[in-house]
Amino acid sequence: MKNEKLLAFAQGMSRLLETRPAEPDILRDGSVLLAALVAQDDWLPEQFAVPHPQYYQQYLLYADPLERFSMVSFVWGPGQKTPVHDHMTWGLIGMLRGKEVETHYLRDAHGAMTPGRCVTLLPGQVGSVSPTTHDIHEVANFYADQTSISIHVYGGNIGRIHRHVFDPVTGAEKSFVSGYCSDVVPNLWS
Ligand code: FE
Repeated sequence: MKNEKLLAFAQGMSRLLETRPAEPDILRDGSVLLAALVAQDDWLPEQFAVPHPQYYQQYLLYADPLERFSMVSFVWGPGQKTPVHDHMTWGLIGMLRGKEVETHYLRDAHGAMTPGRCVTLLPGQVGSVSPTTHDIHEVANFYADQTSISIHVYGGNIGRIHRHVFDPVTGAEKSFVSGYCSDVVPNLWS
């Protein structure tokens, strides 16, 4: 069956969140589920892996009807990167194809930003964000000449959450809602 890995992951996350675990447990157990999903790059339907020449793409793969989590295929064209931004909920990033570089940002009491840790994610590896510890970052495709793809899982319907982009120097913030770049989702039950 074509999308059985995706369905198994959605079922695993649903079972995990059904027990209403604390966030550190979600990040720990969710990472294990996501690592299993991105261990092999053989399941993402081609239409959710298409880069845009100008903008990084966020294809919705699955959204929990109760909005406990959502899942996005994040497709980077060559050299593309995000602004500095936050999520307002926990998130897991599983690298499927290529390589991405994540720079954490720290924000002091006056709002000023300082770049922190830099993390490079390779295929099969999983990273995280969390409002309680490290929610602000900038993410970039490592490659200037090829596509990279990571699978993101968030603790809500990320396309509808009001969150922020930041000026990396002054820390000035602007609200945004990311939405999703496509109106179709994979058929998990075909
Ligand atoms: Fe992010």
